[in-house]
Amino acid sequence: MDRALAGAPFELTREIGAAQYVYLGGAKGLVAMAGGNLLLDPGLDASRAERIRKVLEYTLERLPKLYGVALPGPGAVVTAVSELPGFHGDTTSGRMMRLRLPANVETMPGTMLEHFVAHEVVHWWNSGVFGTDQQRPWLHEGHAEWMARLLLREQGLLGDAELRADIESNLNNCAAARGSKVAAAMKPGRQGDDVYACGMSLMLLGQAQRSEAWRQTAPLVQMAPLHRIERGLDVQAFVEWADAGSTQAAMARLLQDSQQAFDSGLLARLKALGMADGEDVKSSEQLPPGLRMKTAGGLMSALMSSDCDGAVGFWTLPKAFRLDAALKCSSLRVGSEVAALAGVPVLTDPIAAYAAVKSACQQGQTIKVGYMSGAETAMACPKTLPALPVTQLIRLRPDALQRLGLVS
Ligand SMILES: [Zn+2]
Repeated sequence: MDRALAGAPFELTREIGAAQYVYLGGAKGLVAMAGGNLLLDPGLDASRAERIRKVLEYTLERLPKLYGVALPGPGAVVTAVSELPGFHGDTTSGRMMRLRLPANVETMPGTMLEHFVAHEVVHWWNSGVFGTDQQRPWLHEGHAEWMARLLLREQGLLGDAELRADIESNLNNCAAARGSKVAAAMKPGRQGDDVYACGMSLMLLGQAQRSEAWRQTAPLVQMAPLHRIERGLDVQAFVEWADAGSTQAAMARLLQDSQQAFDSGLLARLKALGMADGEDVKSSEQLPPGLRMKTAGGLMSALMSSDCDGAVGFWTLPKAFRLDAALKCSSLRVGSEVAALAGVPVLTDPIAAYAAVKSACQQGQTIKVGYMSGAETAMACPKTLPALPVTQLIRLRPDALQRLGLVS
């Protein structure tokens, strides 16, 4: 099952993931809970089983109260321990959920487990109880991401410093993914978007606007009117929720104005709300880890596409990119791990790597590619030089959490 899921496209993952519910249906280890049943993989350790039970108990009690709508029947949560790193969840439109967890606990540090479970439970409401426009996945993914943080925060599992860093990282990932594209002109679906980072950024921006208009209302309570039984959540409904109580129609401008570039619009709005400022990018040290990886990936992607006749395929490891062995490239050694571009360790210092590639190409030289093992290769410069995905960073102001109503 895990082998079939590794590298599978989203639709296939859903299909195979759904089949697994049936496969595990006969297993022992059923924990009956108010509002749901938890099916434990015999390979799951007692400590993680208890953490999952606790967060399920909390969210399954909290969400019906917030929304005033209970699940139509008990939910079923199936856990599956896997040799794969990381984690994966899928929920059916009903009330079933499969949580794939890593055998190696260390690949899920901190409260990532609690966050993951809360995120998936929120989907039972945002895509199960309520209708959501599935063509715009940032709506339900962003809602699940932001709600999971608010739920963790209520349980005392997410501190100020961690939440600030997390918000800043997601805002920057979103600005990098969408860049100057016009939101109103973006194609439906997940491609060309970071549905998690952008969805969460837009949800918190909406909440900040509402906090301005509706002071004294707790963040989770402000989120609840976003979904209604009689009307599915789509972009128009989201805009109406976010702009309620304000005469500025700021969210409408950011998402529905055919002239508004997304990245500059997002930063302008954050500035206007007193939440953040822009900072010019000069060195890789300024970039949050996620964005640093993304920036490096952007350069690898541009060079690979040029060398491999438009094809791109690699996995990002901590210090290198493992190139997909199935691709055919002019000079890149596929199946190997690229660590340096134009002499610069690209994942550690992507900003310097962009500059070194640019300088080599401007001097009419080839681009040297260094690997974790084996000799260097040299590739021809692409027709157009890859540009940095981000030139301005979003930096939260010290009192940003106050603006969100998260600190009194
Ligand atoms: Zn999700």
